Amino acid sequence: MNVHVMPLGDVVAHEGTPECVCGPGDEVVQINSAAAQVGMIFHHYALQPCTEWEVFPGA
Ligand SMILES: [Zn+2]
Repeated sequence: MNVHVMPLGDVVAHEGTPECVCGPGDEVVQINSAAAQVGMIFHHYALQPCTEWEVFPGA
C-alpha cells in the first residue's frame, strides 16, 4: 500500500500518484521481522509554506 503525505491549500493541485508535479520523495516501509516491503510513503513538496498536511492512500 502506498500513502501520500500532501499539503493542503498549496498553489498547485497535488495528485496521489508518484508522478505528481511536485516530484514527491519516496520512502520504503518495511516490517523488519518479515523483511517484506509493505508499501511506500510519498512525501510531497509544498510550493508555498503549508501548515496543514494530510495523509491520503494513493497509487
Ligand atoms: Zn505533490
